[in-house]
Amino acid sequence: MRPRALLAFGVSLVLFLAGCGDPARNPSQVGGPPASAAPSPPAPKPTTTPRRTTPPKPRLRPLPTTLPAGLHRSTGDRAVALTFDDGPDPRWTPQVLDQLRAAHVTATFCVIGSQVKRYPELVARIAREGHQLCNHSWRHDINLGRRPVADIRADLLRTDKAIRAAVPKARIPYYRQPGGRWTPEVVAVARQLGMRSLHWSVDPQDWDHPTAQTIGKRVESAVRPGAIVLMHDGGGDRRPTLAACQHLIPELKRRYGISRLR
Ligand SMILES: [Zn+2]
Repeated sequence: MRPRALLAFGVSLVLFLAGCGDPARNPSQVGGPPASAAPSPPAPKPTTTPRRTTPPKPRLRPLPTTLPAGLHRSTGDRAVALTFDDGPDPRWTPQVLDQLRAAHVTATFCVIGSQVKRYPELVARIAREGHQLCNHSWRHDINLGRRPVADIRADLLRTDKAIRAAVPKARIPYYRQPGGRWTPEVVAVARQLGMRSLHWSVDPQDWDHPTAQTIGKRVESAVRPGAIVLMHDGGGDRRPTLAACQHLIPELKRRYGISRLR
């Protein structure tokens, strides 16, 4: 009878293991009991909230209804500044850089850490050609500012480290919160790490697939002396942005001057 007993044990082991789902694959179990907890036989649906054996994931801090203090939103003089977010991107960033170089102007690039790690040579070119660098978080987490301060700090440090792996001793004077979803906490962490919080005053929403003509019109109607213009060199098809810039860059330069943020 021993082999049969062994078989029965094997079958029950398989059933036991099948009950230990990976909590990460089952959203309902995220934050629930640890995977090592012994499985219990099917029980009737609980009528009360089950007791947690591990603390719940920290909730996201609520987003403030107004922008926090301390955001940098103008250049401080007549010249306007161009800022390009969500790169570096091997298809678009070099074309933006080519246009800027042809116009003899410099801009600020708000780079995503994971992209920096993939394309360090593009970050090196950005720095080499005199543009300013801005930390735009590791993976474009629009909720980063709502997370625990330690998580915010780790994300910003990781991104700075990637930038400095590409450009040793790079100056990174700015942080820009993805989605513009600022919180006082993310502003404070950026400041502690030596970065000013860079917002904008002109947003043509080039990420939302407008035509080049629409991008150009939106910028020209909203721009004022000292404006900080937000556009993108990553995160999608940037042909309309590039086409708009062919006209916008010389036009803004002629009307206001274009300066890199300091
Ligand atoms: Zn972005």
